[in-house]
Amino acid sequence: MKLKGINEQVMRSVQGLQEEMIEVTRKLISFPSTLGNEGGAQRYYADLLREIGMKIDIWEPDIDALKKHPAFITSRDHFSNSPVVAAECPGVGEGRSLLLCGHMDVVPPGEKTWSVDPWQGTLKDGKIFGRGACDMKGGLAANYIAIKALQKKNIQLQGDVLAASTIDEESGSTGALALLERGYRADAGVIPEPTGLELNTASTGSIWFRIRVFGESAHAGMAYKGVNSIYKSIKIMEALRELEESRRIRLMHPLYTQHPVPFCLNVNKIEGGEWPATVPAETVLEGRMGISPEETIEEGRQELEERIALSAKGDPWMSDHPPVIQYRNCRWNSGLVEETHPFTKTLQQQADSVLDRHVRISGMGPCSDSGTLIRYGGIPTINFGPNSMEIAHQTDEYVDIESLVKTAQVIALTLIHWCGVKEN
Ligand SMILES: [Zn+2]
Repeated sequence: MKLKGINEQVMRSVQGLQEEMIEVTRKLISFPSTLGNEGGAQRYYADLLREIGMKIDIWEPDIDALKKHPAFITSRDHFSNSPVVAAECPGVGEGRSLLLCGHMDVVPPGEKTWSVDPWQGTLKDGKIFGRGACDMKGGLAANYIAIKALQKKNIQLQGDVLAASTIDEESGSTGALALLERGYRADAGVIPEPTGLELNTASTGSIWFRIRVFGESAHAGMAYKGVNSIYKSIKIMEALRELEESRRIRLMHPLYTQHPVPFCLNVNKIEGGEWPATVPAETVLEGRMGISPEETIEEGRQELEERIALSAKGDPWMSDHPPVIQYRNCRWNSGLVEETHPFTKTLQQQADSVLDRHVRISGMGPCSDSGTLIRYGGIPTINFGPNSMEIAHQTDEYVDIESLVKTAQVIALTLIHWCGVKEN
């Protein structure tokens, strides 16, 4: 293959596979691959990659082995019927490797009624509708089509290609961690999450916390004999609001200027008291704190704990009966790839050329597997994919076919320009 005109040929090759990409997306949507039910979709995806000659590894993560990893967290007690898929295609040598990653798990359809069957992949107005259409079965189809488009043109890459489909992304990135623990690595990675065709080089993390605030019960007719834990919890909530504001100012990141509060800290559930005539002895606040791309989960936790301790210290009762902070079985790592990183440049150049405009670099509001891949695998991983994050997890979720084709074209060109091509 002569390198001259290679971009044009590859873009046309992807275009020629548009119908197949639509059918693969629809087929993937037809598997209701919610948490714990990813097996059928994963096996179908593994078969697709096997058919194009990739070496397939499909396995159910070993929960006991993963428990030893500091980043492991799950609400599950096994991973049967939730295999992870990794597929390799070795390069001819002397090139950089690339991971094309995506997650197969989807959130449930929700309580609102859909105008289409969420598990059918209905085609309408240039869009494919269904749960997981944009988040992110369309992206998984785009990864597959990008590799196939190069094969159809007999393009031999110098670097290795690794395609992966994870599980459990929507509840804390276990699949991405299992991929790393299995030993898979690459020089860079791309995840076609629905970023609206922008490069999301940063992604946020989050932690779910639970704060137990103590009081002392008494008959409400002699409330002065007790300590009201609900009133004490107001002080803690005030401290949390101050913490959110100080973090908003201190952690403001240039990639997140479009978000008024990029790393929100909210109390979203409150429970306290038993009886209207009894002073409550315990109040529990539950919430979520966003983690900035430059911050680790441990750093975020430490700041939260210090702020609560400071607030308790200022109150005679709470300094003797300090609130207790616990964390729920859910957390996501944040991640960042520098704008000056060679992979950012390569991906941006391909996006600019396919979309024929200067493509924006921004920060991703929701979490992604990229945080885990960056922090625990050292794989600089960027999210770039079709339209659009606003309709992810929503009723009548869809993926826009035109943006899906563009995504696959950008990924295919990135394979060429990152991994290198052998000229013959
Ligand atoms: Zn997603």
